[in-house]
Amino acid sequence: MTDIEPAPLQRGATIILDIEKAAFEGRSIARVNNLVVFVDGAVPGDRVSATVFRKKKQFAEARVDEVLVPSPHRVDPACTHFGVCGGCKWQHMSYEQQLVWKRAHVRDAFERIGGLEGVVVNETLPSVSPFWYRNKMEYSFGEMRWLGEVNRDAEPFALGLHVPKRYDRILHIDECHLESPESNLVLNATREFFLEKGISAFSTRTHTGDLRHLVIREGKHTGERMVYLVTSQRMEAVMEEYAALLQRGEFGVTTLIQGVTQRKSTVAIGEEDIVHFGEGSIREQLGDNTFRISPTSFFQTNTLQAERLYALAEKAAELRPADVVWDLYCGTGTISLYIARDVKQVVGVELNDAAIRDAGTNAGANGLENTQFICADIVDFLAPDAAHDVPAPDVIITDPPRAGMHTKVVDAIGKSGVERLVYVSCNPTTSARDCAMLAEYGYDIVDITPVDMFPHTFHIECVISLRKNAGFAAQDS
Ligand code: SAH
Repeated sequence: MTDIEPAPLQRGATIILDIEKAAFEGRSIARVNNLVVFVDGAVPGDRVSATVFRKKKQFAEARVDEVLVPSPHRVDPACTHFGVCGGCKWQHMSYEQQLVWKRAHVRDAFERIGGLEGVVVNETLPSVSPFWYRNKMEYSFGEMRWLGEVNRDAEPFALGLHVPKRYDRILHIDECHLESPESNLVLNATREFFLEKGISAFSTRTHTGDLRHLVIREGKHTGERMVYLVTSQRMEAVMEEYAALLQRGEFGVTTLIQGVTQRKSTVAIGEEDIVHFGEGSIREQLGDNTFRISPTSFFQTNTLQAERLYALAEKAAELRPADVVWDLYCGTGTISLYIARDVKQVVGVELNDAAIRDAGTNAGANGLENTQFICADIVDFLAPDAAHDVPAPDVIITDPPRAGMHTKVVDAIGKSGVERLVYVSCNPTTSARDCAMLAEYGYDIVDITPVDMFPHTFHIECVISLRKNAGFAAQDS
């Protein structure tokens, strides 16, 4: 930094910055005269010219105008929509470097927020594939096309992804590298078909128009592919033609479902679902189990990596055949079913009753009789006066949402005295906070393994292995 002239940091100023770090939320960090500058669109190691667009006492924010000296970690993004689409903010950084920063963020969270110095953070487990990893994409139709700005010359018809923070604007997408080449074929054929038929896109402003969402889901292990088209009207004749189109071999579509809804809500759920061909659902394999996925059911989006995540959680739990395991925040029971064959009994607990029903169905379909699923708020399930006759756990696996666990839940787990505890976290900031509290009850972190479920994004999942009073000496990885 020494050869950079200190520039007056004020709104509108153009400054030269050496980018030092990747910050949370996909931004990066430079420093000018000890003031932190958050920068959009840069890669650590870049020297950039940037314009300050916000100046506060503690920090400033700037946007890159020009990369003067590119970072050795900078790569050409694979996607033509990079920069405008909010989806893959890190596609201009090498995948290896993304993994390095994800690990650094986990370590940083546990040291700074958790105050847990010297905790062992293993290398990030890379995604099996950095592209084509998603088993679901949800596209929207819209009457305002966005290409960096609203394109008023274009037809009032777009099919693509929502522009970040602009819910009425749809970025026209013709190639996305996240699901599969076939998924892109379906996307483009759908757009062309309905444009040619003159069918209108639904407007979230006026609530008129027929086409609302296009959801494409596929089983990575089974090769089955679902198209779920959400519309306002039934449009029988057009749908018949659309169904005939999608049955052509190149799309590999095994089932087409149409969801019809007149609701104003922008979620891709039909009030009535019409199956045009196929079974109305697809199957996917996860570990030894097969899951049936309907148009709106929750399922882990990166199948292959979810298997690696669960394998790590299982290993961290050091399961034994006589174990009773509690799987807290179990969703549709994917972790419970993954481990059920290796233990005596699994109890899954989850708030969402549709997810609990799916968990029961999936357990039955896979012949797993040693599982039990309970629909409850974890806070109530763990309350001292809770009325259930579930056997006490030998192991607890917990997988809370991004907000982490309620303090009452942390307290209850702390007091349970369970010896083996595995925390699967999708947000290191909140799991670090929770683990700091658990440390007060004598839970030591054996190690943490970051797992990359979402390449090119700043999201990072991790498996935290904890033991009661293990008394590990703090060590450096
Ligand atoms: N373990 C699952 C899903 C974890 S996602 C899997 O691997 O697929 C977190 C889950 O926690 C969601 O399904 C959400 O419905 C549930 N959840 C959130 N708050 C909850 C609470 N207070 N009590 C019980 N479940 C809750």
